[in-house]
Amino acid sequence: MDDSSTLFHRAAQHAADFRASLAQRSVVPPGDVGALTKALGGPLPQTPSPPEEVLEQLVEAAEPGLMASAGPRFFGFVIGGALPAATAADMVAAGWDQCAFNAALSPAAAAAEEVAGGWLKDLLGIPEGASVGFVTGAQEANTVGLATGRHQVLAGAGWDVERDGLLGAPAVRVVAGEERHATIDRSLRLLGLGTACVEPVRADANGGLDVADLERVLASGPAGPTIVCLQAGNVNTGACDDLAAGCEVARRYGAWVHVDGAFGLWAAASPTTRHLVRGLEQADSWGCDGHKWLNLPYDSGFAFCAHPQVHAAAVSYTAAYLVGSDGPAVGPSDLTLESSRRARGFAAWAGLRQLGREGVADLVERPCRLARRFAEALAAGGVEVANDVVLNQVLVGFGDDARTDRVIAGVQREGTCWLGGTTWRGRRLMRISVSNWTTTEADVDRSVEAILRVAAAV
Ligand SMILES: *Cc1c(COP(=O)(O)O)cnc(C)c1O
Repeated sequence: MDDSSTLFHRAAQHAADFRASLAQRSVVPPGDVGALTKALGGPLPQTPSPPEEVLEQLVEAAEPGLMASAGPRFFGFVIGGALPAATAADMVAAGWDQCAFNAALSPAAAAAEEVAGGWLKDLLGIPEGASVGFVTGAQEANTVGLATGRHQVLAGAGWDVERDGLLGAPAVRVVAGEERHATIDRSLRLLGLGTACVEPVRADANGGLDVADLERVLASGPAGPTIVCLQAGNVNTGACDDLAAGCEVARRYGAWVHVDGAFGLWAAASPTTRHLVRGLEQADSWGCDGHKWLNLPYDSGFAFCAHPQVHAAAVSYTAAYLVGSDGPAVGPSDLTLESSRRARGFAAWAGLRQLGREGVADLVERPCRLARRFAEALAAGGVEVANDVVLNQVLVGFGDDARTDRVIAGVQREGTCWLGGTTWRGRRLMRISVSNWTTTEADVDRSVEAILRVAAAV
């Protein structure tokens, strides 16, 4: 039985129908999890079902619960909407069903990662010789980056952490901004360093790193194995740490520098914002997302490391890497935390190819412009803008915390657009993130109207 053609065409048609409805449909779906679980539920059937029937049942049951997060008026978290070429590539990747473990298992997957990885480094200004692991997202990319740092700073102290673990190891200092992303702490937990090892650095007025305080923190502790974790793109304010100055200070203390650039690293891809991440090439490792600002399908991030052998030594499970720095050529499976994995390189290749250098720059510039439009229009409507809008993130307040939360809940219910809430410096604020390639000025204007309408009624 190998007649998948009708089935796959149907699947593609369903996907296309949904995409075509995005601009019109309510952002928030009518179905709640309880109703959807019921629709999808019941006991596991005893006997097989025809695939065509299964597909139709899935679409019918799931449709009322599909969030229009891929659409132009979803401004929650930092969420893009997968580009057409990238989506199509991901669909064909599912059909090809390649395992991206290594070049022997899929020469095509390995080649796509090699080429897309080169384009990514070029666009972001990361050194050409850096290694690139195609990971699940910035969480894994940061975990890999911090693991490479852990390897190198402990090796420098004569300790083989991959062989001997952390019990009895020299203490590792981790110096990171007080406004780092919460996933950094989870990475440190998973790496056995623990969250208590973090020595926080004060943030400046807009949530970027206070470099003088970085120097103070580094000078206040013992010399020894040290990782400095910088950030490009504060998830609340969009602020980017001064990477040039941060790297310079960290270097003087012999630290490994990791940059969490989940979305903010993309500032490098436009001449209008590149100055925000000046000096990024001086770091040792970088974590970046594909599924946020680059608008690739979910489950896409990049773990870059300026030292490929260190990258492999930290995360490869091939014993050869654990003994020295002159290991064999580094391959895809040496750079991620998974062995068998989806061929993510196809979607990355296709998305970058669709956009080209100019399209990527535009994808960075437009959301920044639209974020400023949001801020200006809301301010004109009497709403408080709490951050300096330097990138694609806007924080707004509606009086006290309780009222702000009521406005957020009201806007989420209303359905014109969707935005989340956050707590920044002790205050509840609405967080607006413009990251979708389809968002237009009209979408922003419509959303501003909806927000002001809901606020007036609260
Ligand atoms: C989103 C984000 C992460 C985590 O990325 P995932 O793609 O969700 O794994 C880490 N750091 C920052 C700054 C982020 O915005």
